Amino acid sequence: MKYVNSRWLIALLLLGTRTMAEPQLSLLGPAAPPLGRGWIVVHAGSLLAMPGTAPTRNQTVIIEDGRIKEIRGGFAMPAEIPGAAGAVVADLSHEFVMPGLIDAHVHLENALPTSGNPLEQTLAGFTNTEADIAFAAAENARTVLNNGFTTVRGAGDLTDTVGFALKRAIKAGRVVAPRLLQAGKPVGPTGTQGDPRGYRPEFMGVMTASFADRICEGVDACRQAVRHRVNLGSDVIKVKASGGVQVLLPGYPDAEFTDDELRAIVQTAHQLGRKVMAHAISNRSTKAALRAGVDSIEHGNVLDDEAIRLFKEKGAWLVPTLSAPHDWAEQSASRGVPEDQAKQIYVGTLESFRKAHAAGVKIAFGTDVGYSPHSREPLEFLWMVRGGMSPAEAIWSATIGSAELLGVSADVGTIQPGKVADLVATSGDPLGDINQMTKIDFVMQGGIIRKSVAVGAIGNEK
Ligand SMILES: [Zn+2]
Repeated sequence: MKYVNSRWLIALLLLGTRTMAEPQLSLLGPAAPPLGRGWIVVHAGSLLAMPGTAPTRNQTVIIEDGRIKEIRGGFAMPAEIPGAAGAVVADLSHEFVMPGLIDAHVHLENALPTSGNPLEQTLAGFTNTEADIAFAAAENARTVLNNGFTTVRGAGDLTDTVGFALKRAIKAGRVVAPRLLQAGKPVGPTGTQGDPRGYRPEFMGVMTASFADRICEGVDACRQAVRHRVNLGSDVIKVKASGGVQVLLPGYPDAEFTDDELRAIVQTAHQLGRKVMAHAISNRSTKAALRAGVDSIEHGNVLDDEAIRLFKEKGAWLVPTLSAPHDWAEQSASRGVPEDQAKQIYVGTLESFRKAHAAGVKIAFGTDVGYSPHSREPLEFLWMVRGGMSPAEAIWSATIGSAELLGVSADVGTIQPGKVADLVATSGDPLGDINQMTKIDFVMQGGIIRKSVAVGAIGNEK
């Protein structure tokens, strides 16, 4: 019996070693769905292969086993392509084709109440089991993929089970979802965003206990929290450098890490090969996180000249998530926030964004969907253009920019030979009219057609 037990132990240890050895940051590691098989020939009426450069007319994108093999001028037929006889042809000859989009800030576990009533969402925190959350996450992932986002970064979850299980299901091809880099639960100080307050004392113990694994206090505990997250499988560490958007309202309490706690988090994460994304609403928390060396500031609603200087000095990215304050201002009445104050926060955020963009701060695309409805994800493009970006720059940020921030540029972000075949299309030219980004009618992910609405014929050509 003892012998059997030790054999089990050895097997478990070997299994553990194998799991640890997997390249967790590789795009085609745990988070990527299987690639398509065989040949596909795409006829693109306009092709924006490299966002930031001009699109080209009438191009053929040749795909083999989920990766781009070649791009040719004109519309080539499978018979003219060595090895491609019998390939599927996707006729996008009247479409504008671009790389699959990348959202660097999503919350797939969050299901918003259809009524828009925030109290209903609070109640869901008491009633929803992890199984309920899993069904919502799968549905949200599908919505996001249909929006044209073939790769996303999960920016903080409610559970440490659903998001990581979703990653495994994506890798196994069990669910149709974007490629997923995953933060899991964020780490923050006591009193951070989401840390319960305002309940009856007899409930507070239960509430804070369920939140406790998201809290760290002091340098050693914060180092340990990061190591724990990496051990659970976090591809990136999400740190709460400030509380929620409410901290910009007068008299609302905030909780912030000390500088040495922030430095310990960043140093430990980097040592373990993980980037750090910092949720930072206030100006003070943004600058503290930048000084500590985080890789990206999420939200960054209040940016002064010093913050802009720090972004540039540190080479950090801004992920503006303009949709969040926009929608928050829109729903101010149901949240009991004075409308003028909420609107002022949105306008101020847009001004900070304008300033960062004008100064040449690196800006990646992120929406914070889950706090606004997943179906509204593409509206972020409109707000970015409203904040001074050209449509071309907004599309760059959602492709090349986000790919660079996520560390996945080797595989996605452009349409080039060798890259994974992630392509999306829309009927009009989004460089002329950014509203086209809300009308993505074709999505291909890793050489698999995930969505095809009102586009030309898709069929076999001998
Ligand atoms: Zn968020």
